[in-house]
Formats: sequence, C-alpha cells, structure tokens
Amino acid sequence: MDYIYADHAATTPLLDQARSAMEPWLGENFANASSLYKSGSLARKAVESARRKIANILGADYEEIFFTSGGTESNVSALRGASDAGTQTFICSAIEHHSVLETVKRLGSLGMHTEFVYPEQDGTVTPEAAARNAAKDSLVSVMLANNEIGTIEPIKEIADAVHEKDGIVHCDCVQAAGHIPLSLHKSGVDLASFSAHKFGGPKGAGILYVKRGTPYLPLFTGGAQEWHMRAGTENVAGIVGMAEALEVSCADIESERVRLEKIRAEILSGISKIPYVRINSCAAQCLPGFINVSFSFIEGENIATVMNGKNIAVSPGSACAAGSHDPSHVLTALGLDRSTAIGAVRISLGRTSSQSDAPAIVAALSETVDFLRYLVPKWREMMGNK
Ligand code: PLP
Repeated sequence: MDYIYADHAATTPLLDQARSAMEPWLGENFANASSLYKSGSLARKAVESARRKIANILGADYEEIFFTSGGTESNVSALRGASDAGTQTFICSAIEHHSVLETVKRLGSLGMHTEFVYPEQDGTVTPEAAARNAAKDSLVSVMLANNEIGTIEPIKEIADAVHEKDGIVHCDCVQAAGHIPLSLHKSGVDLASFSAHKFGGPKGAGILYVKRGTPYLPLFTGGAQEWHMRAGTENVAGIVGMAEALEVSCADIESERVRLEKIRAEILSGISKIPYVRINSCAAQCLPGFINVSFSFIEGENIATVMNGKNIAVSPGSACAAGSHDPSHVLTALGLDRSTAIGAVRISLGRTSSQSDAPAIVAALSETVDFLRYLVPKWREMMGNK
C-alpha cells in the first residue's frame, strides 16, 4: 500500500514552487542581505519583495511584517515583547499552543497577572469570556484555529470585545494561515504569529505581525535587521520560500477547502460506524481537513503506532505532546475525561491527500481499533469473549 500522510497539522511537505524559489538563495546567491555589495543588495531585494508579497496577501502594511524563525519564536516574542513594553496582565485561552501557554506561565512566575480562559465544549472561546477580565495594560491571546481539534475562533469579535476594554490582542495564526481566508487589518488583532512549514513553506521561517502603534519591544536585541525589531541575519531562502508558499496556498484556498471537506466527510462517515467512538473536532467551525476522534478502551499513541505499520501517518493528539503520556491539555479543557482524551487520534488532511485516502484510512483505523481492543481484557469481557 502507498504511504498516506495524514498529519498536515504537524507539518506540510515543501511545495515545489517554494523549493524552486528558494534554490538560488541556497546556492550561488548566498550573500548576507545586510551586505552592501551587489549580491547582498540582491538578497535584500528578495527579502523586501517577500515582505511586500506577504503583507499584501495577509492584508497588512509592509512595515508591520517581521521575519522570525517560526511560530514558537513569533508567539514568545509577541508576549514577551508586549510585557517588556509595559503590558501587565496576560490572558490566554486554555487551548493555546504550548509556546503561548508556557510563556504566559513564565510571565506569571515573573510577577505578571495571568489568567486562562476555558472554551465551550466545541472549543470555541467566546468574546465575552476572552474579554471578561481584560483592561488597559492587558494582552489577550487567542489562536485563530486550534492545532488539535481545528476549531476556528471568532477572532474579530474577540478583538472588538478586548479593544472595548482597552486591551490588546495577540492571535496565533499558525494553523490557519494558507488554509482559511484571513485579513489582518480586518481581523482587528494587534499581534499575530505565522509559521511557514504549516502552509507548504520551509521549516525555520515565520512571521510576526505587529500592528502600527502596538506596545511592543523586540525580544531579540542586537543588529539592526528588521528595522531593529528582530536582530539576526535574515534567512533569505526561508523568507523567499515562505512568501511563495503563502501565495500558492492562498490562491486556491476555497477549492482546497471544498476538496478536503469532501475527503473529511467520507472519513467521518466511515469512522462513525466504529463502536464507542467520539468525534472531538466540531464540524461547523473547523479547519477543512481536521478530524480529532477518541476510541474508548485504547490509547491514541498505540493507534498511531499500528497505523504507522500500515503506512499511514496520523498523530496521537498534538505532535508537540508526542512521547508524553499526559492527556492533551486541549481535550481536557473541553471537559473530556482522562481515558477519552488519551484515546484520541488526530487526522489532518492537506495538499497530498486524495479522495482515495478516505476508504484506506477508515479500513486501516477499523482494523487497528479492533486489533488493539482485542488486547484489552475489559473489552473482551464486555464483548462476552472471556
Ligand atoms: N502555534 C501552533 C498553533 C502550532 O500548531 C505550532 C506548531 O505545531 C506552533 C505554534 C509552533 O510553530 P513552529 O513549529 O514554527 O515553532
């Protein structure tokens, strides 16, 4: 059987167009974009033209886009940078990525006031809950789409509600960018994070959006790169590849959504026939290719391992939690009990997915679940097969 990659939320394959765009900057044109000679100024032009392209696509101004090494750096910089500029209170949803959660916890240990907001059962963070305790000098961080269950958050309404209380808003757009339409100015957020490898770009390249006038001091101090907003030699190839990947993935966002939703529907319909199953991802406001599902009596990690033996890559919850036996903080925040959370698997479709993957994934999952449950005495007992 061919290999089926169904873990696009962990990372996406590099798009051919991004690879081609990067090649010259990895080869003969290796110059530092800050160098004044000809090859350096060519690299500078490439970086600035990527910035212009990205600003256009994301609905932001050119001067508001800063390049980083990825989603984690952008998230940490946004929060620490706001803190250094005087923000005193940090409020985030309890289902944020660890790079946000752990940074908020650290800020708490440094004496800031911190708070974690719990979502509704489908993962939605309501504007009321997000803004409830916001005030002047507070930052509220809510992601645009969740990396485990795919829930899309009402970010414009959240930003409006927080702004009414004079707070600022950071939005982790890492999973959403290139997969659902987004205009930063229209969204109203003040700070936003992006990572190239989640939309067909290279690993190690990211974006931090800082709306003009936002209280922010750079985390990386040093050289004058990025107008003193992020010191360090620019990753020219990464930046060029990221801009290309964003352009390609945003060009057919709607047709990709329709295509992926069709594959997802077939998988969901097949999975629903497996007994003792719980669909954790909501259908209504969800990223197109996301399925998060729990199977009672067994563990997601074992399911993913057996599926791997069948040449299908899926993830037990979030990739960042792999290797840990703790239940996912996202599923726990939704109110799932420990064993249901531990029994979860994430299937995330993307550009390499095709309709024929659906029956193959469903068949492999059914076999895997049957096999693993048969090893569980409690299950055999329940089935009357002592
Ligand atoms: N934020 C979200 C929602 C993510 O899913 C991830 C990666 O899994 C990150 C941030 C971190 O991004 P990076 O891998 O570029 O550091």
